[in-house]
Amino acid sequence: MNSLVSKLLFVKGVVQGVGFRPFVYKIALQNSLKGHVLNTGSGVEIRLEGDEKDFELFCHVLQKNPPPLARIESLDISDQKMQSFETFEIIETKKSDVKQSLISPDIAICQECLEEFFKHKNRREHYYLINCTNCGPRYSIIQTLPYDRDNTSMKRFVMCDECHKEYTNPIDRRYHAQPISCYECGPKLSLYDTNQEEISHSNEAIKKSAQYIKDGKIVAIKGIGGFHIVCDASNEDVVRKLREKKHRPTKPFAVMFKDMQDAKKHLNVSPKEEELLCSKQKPIVLVQKKEKNSFVSIAPHTDNIGAFLPYAPLQFALFEYLDEAIVATSANLRGEPIIKDKEQIFEKLSNVVDFVLDFDREIINANDDSIQAAVANKDIILRASRGYTPTVYHYKAPVRKKILSVGARQKNQVALFLDNNIILSPYIGDIDSIASMEFFERTIKTFEKFYDFEPDVIVCDKHPLYETTQWAKKQNKPLLEIQHHYAHILSTMVEHRLTQKVLGFAWDGTGYGDDGTIWGGETFVCDFHSYERKYHLKPFKLIGGESAIKDINKIALSLLFDNFELQEIEQMDNPAVKSLNTGQIRLLYLAHKKGINAPLTSSIGRLFDAVASLLGFLHSSSYEGEAGLLIESVCDDAITFSYPYVIEEDGMIDLSKMIQEIVREPEVILSANRFINTLVNIICDLASRHPELPVVLSGGVFQNRTLLSRVIQRFESMQKKLYFQQKSPLNDGGICLGQIGYALHSNFLLQ
Ligand code: ZN
Ligand code: ZN
Ligand code: FE
Repeated sequence: MNSLVSKLLFVKGVVQGVGFRPFVYKIALQNSLKGHVLNTGSGVEIRLEGDEKDFELFCHVLQKNPPPLARIESLDISDQKMQSFETFEIIETKKSDVKQSLISPDIAICQECLEEFFKHKNRREHYYLINCTNCGPRYSIIQTLPYDRDNTSMKRFVMCDECHKEYTNPIDRRYHAQPISCYECGPKLSLYDTNQEEISHSNEAIKKSAQYIKDGKIVAIKGIGGFHIVCDASNEDVVRKLREKKHRPTKPFAVMFKDMQDAKKHLNVSPKEEELLCSKQKPIVLVQKKEKNSFVSIAPHTDNIGAFLPYAPLQFALFEYLDEAIVATSANLRGEPIIKDKEQIFEKLSNVVDFVLDFDREIINANDDSIQAAVANKDIILRASRGYTPTVYHYKAPVRKKILSVGARQKNQVALFLDNNIILSPYIGDIDSIASMEFFERTIKTFEKFYDFEPDVIVCDKHPLYETTQWAKKQNKPLLEIQHHYAHILSTMVEHRLTQKVLGFAWDGTGYGDDGTIWGGETFVCDFHSYERKYHLKPFKLIGGESAIKDINKIALSLLFDNFELQEIEQMDNPAVKSLNTGQIRLLYLAHKKGINAPLTSSIGRLFDAVASLLGFLHSSSYEGEAGLLIESVCDDAITFSYPYVIEEDGMIDLSKMIQEIVREPEVILSANRFINTLVNIICDLASRHPELPVVLSGGVFQNRTLLSRVIQRFESMQKKLYFQQKSPLNDGGICLGQIGYALHSNFLLQ
């Protein structure tokens, strides 16, 4: 005989605004269960009565097969008194008290919407803003919670009857899809020239834009989280023109391919990369070009390209008229955040773009494209944003207080802790302009509004000159400051929920060290409570201070001064030496000798710069990480040689023998590979000295895929576990997670 049950289920996580209630409704009906479902302030409540077996089946489907955008963080089930419900219903939410549910990121168009988009004689054929509860914009259009149409930028568009019917039908795919719209009732699409005159509208505007792109024009096109600047990727002239106009000499542009087939024509796409490219987040993925000499102006000197596929219906509509790939780079001024309004395009980029394709659904929260890469068959994320953020990490901690962490300066992201969740913000960018500082503050305000959040504690970097640190100090809140590289390691520990002591390699660009020098090649023995700087790169002088980050031949010379006499150097047949004249070299020599504007650094990022210059790859870097990319472009796993190094008694890693040999070595490719192998050897060597400690990697240097993949392979062959970030950026974007982790374990908060 079947036994009857009466249950109360409580689901927490990303479960609102993602089609969760209709989904529950459907599976309740399928299993003949009675009761109801409703949204509450912190999740979804489900009352169920019926046959025990049916109930179990229901729970199985609920957990195994939730709607694509939903993420169940926890499911609590309790027994209830039988109430003998007669139906199963979706109960409307009371408007109050819906503040703590989590916000879904913006998601690429789903398969069902895409089929509708291409289906002839359907009312949304080629509709440039088609979406449903399983796809489309979320975070980017939300003003405040609860997630209702009135709290989004769709508020001013009144649904037509047909849309309203879909919106109110619980078994429709668009039941409570807040951005629902159609040609009749939705936002209008317009093409403008630089005089801000509308020259075309609706689908005709898309066709015209495509024609202009084919004709070699530059068009700003509104995406999901901001505008792209778009031009024909196969037209070298226009790409070069775009570089000139944007004052961006070499930093690679992202390329959007029409589809996977087209991408594969030009790129060597691995199965892992294909999986990433086609995922519902549709990130930019770094993929190897088939021919090194293709896309020359798009990605100069490197054999990789940042590729992605269309994710917004407007982009699919555009490709109806285009066969070639397009450059689709974020619309911004150098050092400023992505632009989200057409007015800003006209104001800031009118000398860059020829036309602007805009629709009048406002982007409320800007959100850049995410960037991912495959390394040794694993994926890493270099920029976590559209599709991924706000990212929620369920993180149980005995802390009631609310925490805000403000990250570092470069590639800034912030994080909040509340109610056992760490929430990672979208990518904000380098905080070195007024506009980016405003974006930083606006992002924090947005999250405070979303969650009625007021921090009890703020965590920041120890660097006194970071704008973010200075901002944090002005907030008159209890403040925790944490060393940059320690925070890097803790970020990985948070992501992997490690709590024990670890051996952490924080290899990075530059960060403020405890001893006043610039750190960036540190190995810590640490846990959440304390850290010991066990090993580090032997410091060298960063001649020119901050300017050496650009003029990397100065760093090369500094390492030469450490190892050779001035006379020897002047006679060297070395590219770094030859990139400077005798007068310059002597000035640098004096600065080095006297320590004038030459702070000490142990940064591996800067070591990469120096080696790239010594090998003649590059003497002046125009973007962070350029040296590493160039070294990566000559990687050859068949080369297994390395250089000697010394770990001194006090934990200093001395690489002077390597520098001496590099200068003598005539073979550039061999040297570059030996250099990387040396770093791999150092990690494995130090790890073997602490067999009891799990090994953790973090910091921007590990974005170098040659380095990271060789470390991964070596650890696999040693059957030793290796931890690095995959869901959060291992560059400074991820630091805010470690900052939160630090606060969660500090005595200060546990009191
Ligand atoms: Zn859809
Ligand atoms: Zn409509
Ligand atoms: Fe860093």
